[in-house]
Amino acid sequence: MSAPLLEVRDLHKHYPVRGGVFSRTMGTVRAVAGVSLSVHAGQTLGLVGESGCGKSTLGRTLMRLEEPTSGQVLFDGQDLAQASGEALFKLRREVQMVFQDPYSSLNPRLTVGEIVREPMLVHGLGSKAEQVARVRDLLATVGLGADALQRYPSEFSGGQRQRIGVARALSLNPRLVIADEPVSALDVSVQSQVLNLMVQLQRDRGLAYVFISHDLSVVEHVSDVVAIMYLGRIVEMGPVRAIFDRPAHPYTRALMQAIPAGDPRRRRASVPLSGEAPSPMAVLPGCAFASRCPYALEACRQAAPALESMGAAPAGGTPHVVACIRRDEIGNAAANPG
Ligand code: ADP
Repeated sequence: MSAPLLEVRDLHKHYPVRGGVFSRTMGTVRAVAGVSLSVHAGQTLGLVGESGCGKSTLGRTLMRLEEPTSGQVLFDGQDLAQASGEALFKLRREVQMVFQDPYSSLNPRLTVGEIVREPMLVHGLGSKAEQVARVRDLLATVGLGADALQRYPSEFSGGQRQRIGVARALSLNPRLVIADEPVSALDVSVQSQVLNLMVQLQRDRGLAYVFISHDLSVVEHVSDVVAIMYLGRIVEMGPVRAIFDRPAHPYTRALMQAIPAGDPRRRRASVPLSGEAPSPMAVLPGCAFASRCPYALEACRQAAPALESMGAAPAGGTPHVVACIRRDEIGNAAANPG
């Protein structure tokens, strides 16, 4: 397989937590606590996990909307985490974001034409006539007519607004789009239309996506590779079918139980998710999931497990990796239920 378009190495994003009358630092939230992953051109990496596990922070740090605490974000071999000035400005063209809320992410005082054209103006891309023609093309691509040009976001439905957000994200012809819960704010009936649009755009343009969602069925539908995140770390990652058919981390299996209409085998293999997640400020010596895990052994509380391959990694393909010392027995039980 060719070199990845995006390669993230041991990325951290920590936030100081202040409190008290003197606003002293009380601790640190490790929102992203050592994430490594890669995304290939034309592929979708689905990033899943419960609210608060660090998905948005990871997405925003990849875009350099947040300064990383440490680690590398290599885009086409160049480190976005270190880039500044002109180099960062250029790299930003290649990576764009689609946000969750199509109501607050579009400037209500600009027309749709102005919204979609704005990134081209900022980056000085083409003449005015070229920019206007491109805006028309982009609106047609996302299924909106030229009459949208002069109208304001408030005149559109949620699904249409998200189409406008997608058109804006595409205006600089990016190679990677980070989509943070892009359909979560939409009615279920509209969700699949926007998802299908995104999948079609990927096919037509060879786009890569980092697709952030708490909704496993959405992630199963769009992803090539799935990463499961728990308290700032990836606990399981691999090809979409490996993750959904042979989940091996107890946390992944607990999440699977939340899929409403699923394969009955999958249900049998799942474990209930009980108890509270530890505070993201806690520094635990062992596995962060141990306090909620029905399989936890004493050894799990001693040392944090590394991501290790399940069986032999396929030559050149994406390996299925799991951070659990009991991955083989749990994964095999999931593959052969009953
Ligand atoms: P998710 O997207 O998975 O819901 P987030 O990335 O929003 O998770 O949050 C991860 C953790 O980081 C949470 O504990 C959240 O409270 C904390 N966090 C996010 N942004 C900030 C910030 N600006 N300052 C302090 N803590 C933050």
